[in-house]
Amino acid sequence: GTVLVSGASGFIAAHVIQQFVESGYKVVGTVRNQTSIDNFKKTSTYQQYSDYIRLEIVADISAAGAFDEAVKGVDGVIHTQSPFVLNVQDNEKDLLIPAIQGTVGILKSIKENNPFVKRVVVTSSFAAIVDLSKGVHRDHVYSEKDWNPVTYEEGKATDIGAVAYCASKVLAEKAAHEFVAKEKPNFTVATINPPMVYGPNLHYISDLSRLGESPALIYSLINGSLVESGVPETGFPAWVDVRDVALAHLRAYENPKSAGQRYFVTAGSFLYDEMCQTILDNFPQFKGKVPVPTGANTLDGLYRTDNTKARTELGINFRSLEECTIDSVNSFLPLLK
Ligand code: NDP
Repeated sequence: GTVLVSGASGFIAAHVIQQFVESGYKVVGTVRNQTSIDNFKKTSTYQQYSDYIRLEIVADISAAGAFDEAVKGVDGVIHTQSPFVLNVQDNEKDLLIPAIQGTVGILKSIKENNPFVKRVVVTSSFAAIVDLSKGVHRDHVYSEKDWNPVTYEEGKATDIGAVAYCASKVLAEKAAHEFVAKEKPNFTVATINPPMVYGPNLHYISDLSRLGESPALIYSLINGSLVESGVPETGFPAWVDVRDVALAHLRAYENPKSAGQRYFVTAGSFLYDEMCQTILDNFPQFKGKVPVPTGANTLDGLYRTDNTKARTELGINFRSLEECTIDSVNSFLPLLK
């Protein structure tokens, strides 16, 4: 079969494409411009699998009918594309509109142009689960049952980037489920909800000073920028390896039982201390650039998470932080030469 993967230039999309191709699918990847096509062609994924990957331009995902042509001829759709930025000029224009209209728009394009698509997988987020207004939410255990209650108006008005981003993700996910309920298309939707994603870069990186949020965090642990200040927080209650996120997309695409389901894919909590120690132990060349572990841990008393559904229904056996950290740093080495 052939799947469309939107936002093929992204960090997560690169792994989604790699894993679908390696499982025997052909992929049509959409990107916003010709430069992204040219750059994708420089990736190891494309150089290895060019016979199985075709790229198309969808310039503005919020425009009406944007995906009408791209969805023709595919058997399924993986919609990963959505802005992941925590610092924007205009919450609506830069986050809410592309996230929500992009999601509804691609579903509409499928319904109107391709009755053969049976399953759509949308990359949602833990942002669509967590209720930021509850803060540390002591003793709460987050799972797929939780929905971030933030509203469009709050997302539009807030000065806090994370709140606007969360609104864009939860409202896009809700819109997807509502579209299916109301429009009764031939396809069902499943969503994958990852927290902080780390892992090796497979996507094309043109500029180390303009990395996406996930690669930027890894890079900040080895480029010396946090040596003085230390990491901003000691850790976070939820993280996941990008390869497990991609596998979850593949499994949710193939599993008939995933219709209408959401999956909170997380390996559990982590401390930056552990990541820094792993880097120091395995990459002595970065000594002096890695923040020195302090032993501080403010995760005690913070909410916890439950990944039972992803483990049992999708069969994900989550990778360790150590493996993730080592492979993440290794993927930066060629870029630092
Ligand atoms: P990247 O920034 O690497 O990829 C984002 C993709 O979306 C790129 O293809 C980018 O295109 C495209 N994009 C960005 N802004 C816009 C916009 N305004 N209009 C249209 N397209 C846009 O991020 P990730 O790979 O990390 O994120 C992919 C998905 O995963 C997103 O849906 C994100 O919300 C979700 N996610 C990510 C997490 C993480 O920790 N990384 C955690 C949870 C969810 P271009 O290359 O042209 O800029």
